[in-house]
Amino acid sequence: MNLGNVQEWAAERVKSCALLVVALFVIALAGAGGAYGDEPYARSKDYDLLHSKVALRFNVEKKQVIGDVVHTLTILCDGTPKIWFDSVGLDIHSVTVNKAAAKFETTTDKLIVALPATARAGERFEVEIKYDGKPTKGLYFILPDKDYPEKPKQIWSQGESEDTRNYLPTYDAPNDRLTTETILTVPAAWVTVSNGKLMSVTDAGRGMKTWTWKESQPSSTYLFTVVAGEFDEIKENWKGLPLTYYAPKGRGDRLQINYGRTPQMLELFNKRFGVDYPWEKYAQVMVDDFVAGGMENSSATTNTSSSLVHPKLVNEYPMGQDDLISHELAHQWFGDLVTCKDWGDVWLNEGFATFGEALWQEAHYGKDEADYQRWISAREWLAEATLFKKSIVRHDFADNSDEFDGNAYAKGGWVLYMLRHQLGDAAFYAGLKHYLEVNRGKNVVTADFAKAMEEATHQNIDDFLGQWIYGAGAPKFDVKYSYDDAKHEVALTVKQTQRREGRVGLFRVPVEVEITTASGPKLYNITVSKEEKTYTFPSGGAPLMVLFDKGGQLLEATDFHKDKREWIYQLRNATEVADRADAAASLGKISGDEEVAAALGNAGRNDKVSGVRQTAAQSLGEVGGATAQKEILEALKTQDKPWVRQAEVAALANFKGDAQVTARLDAIAREDSSYRARAAALEALGTAKTATAFDTLSATVAADSPDNFLRKAALRSFASFGDDRAVPLLKEWSAVGKPVDTRTAAIYSLARLKKDDKEITNLIVGYMNESRFPVRVSAINALGWRGDKSAIPALEAMLKSDDLSIEVVPMINRQIVRLRTGGGTKPGARANASEEASASAPQGEKPEVAEHLERLEKLVHEMNERLKAIESKLATK
Ligand SMILES: [Zn+2]
Repeated sequence: MNLGNVQEWAAERVKSCALLVVALFVIALAGAGGAYGDEPYARSKDYDLLHSKVALRFNVEKKQVIGDVVHTLTILCDGTPKIWFDSVGLDIHSVTVNKAAAKFETTTDKLIVALPATARAGERFEVEIKYDGKPTKGLYFILPDKDYPEKPKQIWSQGESEDTRNYLPTYDAPNDRLTTETILTVPAAWVTVSNGKLMSVTDAGRGMKTWTWKESQPSSTYLFTVVAGEFDEIKENWKGLPLTYYAPKGRGDRLQINYGRTPQMLELFNKRFGVDYPWEKYAQVMVDDFVAGGMENSSATTNTSSSLVHPKLVNEYPMGQDDLISHELAHQWFGDLVTCKDWGDVWLNEGFATFGEALWQEAHYGKDEADYQRWISAREWLAEATLFKKSIVRHDFADNSDEFDGNAYAKGGWVLYMLRHQLGDAAFYAGLKHYLEVNRGKNVVTADFAKAMEEATHQNIDDFLGQWIYGAGAPKFDVKYSYDDAKHEVALTVKQTQRREGRVGLFRVPVEVEITTASGPKLYNITVSKEEKTYTFPSGGAPLMVLFDKGGQLLEATDFHKDKREWIYQLRNATEVADRADAAASLGKISGDEEVAAALGNAGRNDKVSGVRQTAAQSLGEVGGATAQKEILEALKTQDKPWVRQAEVAALANFKGDAQVTARLDAIAREDSSYRARAAALEALGTAKTATAFDTLSATVAADSPDNFLRKAALRSFASFGDDRAVPLLKEWSAVGKPVDTRTAAIYSLARLKKDDKEITNLIVGYMNESRFPVRVSAINALGWRGDKSAIPALEAMLKSDDLSIEVVPMINRQIVRLRTGGGTKPGARANASEEASASAPQGEKPEVAEHLERLEKLVHEMNERLKAIESKLATK
């Protein structure tokens, strides 16, 4: 699964917003359904589910599913009197066992079926269940309504982690695998997608058709998928494998431009993984309002439709939507063919899929680009302090789904990168192939991976996994060196400074040290294992550059004490991207220095890797001063990469007092080769509160841009601009009938203006009652920011309403507490594009806010406990 931002997939880089959305997910899941958490350990089993024949019809108006499922299963234990299936919120009409009526009972989350007699191991049964239900999760109905009559109809499922049970009574845990036949009866004009091969499409009468799909290779139920609705489709064939792509009707022209590299990715993964793509077809279905970024259902991935980026915006992102596309494709091997046995080992799915992204980046965009992405991902992971103390494999997440975190994803991907680097490509890929071959069609834990790697490479990786997978954190180094001219020696002192507590210990890691003198570079390999140690190296002369962990081969944070000249030398001369990026970032901390600004300016214009230019631009913004400003303006003259232009414009925002800069920002906001640069300029104008800002922002809102890209940026910028003249415009664009993403942007800003205007508060309260999830969420959050206590009764009333989708309960509680404790926005609080539809607070909260949030989390938890109690009382059907 790829936890993309529900709202802003296209506008934000996948990785930068992933964690924010994790928080949204956690909260949504914690409050949902029977308030159960994911099971941390694999279940013991009474039966083995072999095959499910699932026939579904839909009452679209009522958002109802009508199902008839036949499970074929074998009993595993002697003396089994009854069996149970996971089933939440479904009305069970009848159950037969081997075609004879059977006794059954239901609980909040189970369907218990009595067998005709106490069964023995090996006995086979056919259990048929007829049922219906109106799922609040697991299966979603996306429909047009009077306000959005053009919206294509879509029904789609999202099973992971344990939601299939909300629309299908089944064995809903990863540690069983079954084949499926899916029979979907839908309006004749609709398209359906499910796992496996399309067997037939037949007339079902009354304007309906029945589609039959058959998956002949077993996979887990969380990978089962159902999609039906009004879609455009394109088909191609790759070496005999049918490839299909689906977009919500009307957006088919965006498929090729965003997804056209899929065959090349298949080619690459077949080669690298050493095992051919394992399924009978590969479908990618893009759906609206998807609850994740992407989901790797076996042979039929579902992705958010915001990955169908407007043709004019496609080139604004260095790798398009490839991270998402390659991630889900890599899962077809790692996750689907070989599946984690329990959620505690979910890195075996997610870490490997993240590694797949990096493989594609490297193969298609080159090593430098991939290295830069890896450098970024290390910084982002290190910035998430809560991840540091947790190990990758852990089983203490009973209350929510927080196992899908930056450890399973980013750190998991990093661990595989390090292992590959340490074992070498040949051994590593041989191990990967062996792991897939011996475990194909099976459920695995990390020990299975360790064993397979050792069998294939004869290298024991237990120590490596002990540190990186079962242990927590990463090494933090404090490094300095001195040169002894008499001895011709460099003495390098390395300290491990990570706080050693819980599962975080001292690391034992191989480190590459490179010392460059006038006569050239020399590479040394050392092993760092002590808390502090000084290493000596021969050196013909005083070093020009000393690199510790050359090229950033380790997930680590190093504080290397170097002076300005050394960093400048490194920025200009280091051969590896990570070392130049390190230098660019470090120089950003030396403010007001002209020599530093000139060096960064040079890198910003001339470094061959766009990411380093980006980092140099950011640092120029931090350094400040006349030279830095001049360098950014100069770089903008020739820079042609939109994402670097965006970084340069964002850096310019730091010089907002300067008339020349504000004029330039205004000009860029109105016209530029890059939409992202224009959006950054719009944001900067709002923050700078320039004289022309109101006119420029208003003009931008009035003009059309691809997928409202600039309009949204301008609407959001009104928040930091803080000028009440914007209220009528924000009201207009927040209104029902306007595009949903402009509405959330407008609501976000509206909440921050005319704070004492009750009419605005009431307007936002009204939006809170809409069925459209993003609008509802942005309104709830906006009320918290607005700080108007008069909204509390409305929020409380909403908690009591019958039609409340249970996901929003914790969000509402959070805002009520926020209002009671006066935790609204402060003037000039920074706008955060992802926040408007997110339940979580913006990243970078101050410590007191963090404490405040902690209290809120506790409250949410208590609320869940109460809900659980209430629901178990209600559930005695
Ligand atoms: Zn994933």
